[in-house]
Amino acid sequence: MTIFYEFERKMYINITNGCPCDCVFCIRKNGDSITDNDSLWLEHEPSFEEITEAFQKFDKTGISEAVFCGYGEPTVRADMLLKTAEYIKANSELKIRLNTNGLVRLIHKGFDITRFKGLVDSVSVSLNAPNAERYNEVTRPNKAVSENNNAFEEMLKFSVEMKNMGIKTGFTVVDIISQEEISECEKLSEKLGIPLRVRHYVTDNESYT
Ligand code: SF4
Repeated sequence: MTIFYEFERKMYINITNGCPCDCVFCIRKNGDSITDNDSLWLEHEPSFEEITEAFQKFDKTGISEAVFCGYGEPTVRADMLLKTAEYIKANSELKIRLNTNGLVRLIHKGFDITRFKGLVDSVSVSLNAPNAERYNEVTRPNKAVSENNNAFEEMLKFSVEMKNMGIKTGFTVVDIISQEEISECEKLSEKLGIPLRVRHYVTDNESYT
């Protein structure tokens, strides 16, 4: 079972395959791993003991950053994510990044995002689209998280609040949307003071960052 894997000299952390979304570009539709790593489909959600044991065994030579990523949305296991981040901080010099859809407060009602402060150094949020209508078409959040159709607004709010806490915050979009929509995303990013990175859509397993 692959909990930690390396990609481009970063250590990725895979603690869940759960996700309340069904993004049209999700790489999970196209494979079961990143490059030549083993399958990222977990046999079960790893316990804290399994995570720490795998962390100790993982060769961290040359690695400076740990990234909570996927196959899945890491904040589905927000408590375990924070416990793991705390452990990594206490046992290494690694910087910690969170790749997320930004919907943690819709996944866990009432979740206090200030808990990320001091544990997460940077966050990359999937902006995915310039407005709520297109966001829902591209990200396809399930009804349980987006009962009021408010996922887009909540994702933006989460991003601004993370930035305001001093956490380095960035947005990503995948270039499956039109150039015009990418330009609109750039304007929105500028307005919110959050840099945007445009990711190239991959149909194989070359990248999931
Ligand atoms: S939020 Fe991430 S894991 Fe979930 S469907 Fe979208 S790309 Fe896939």
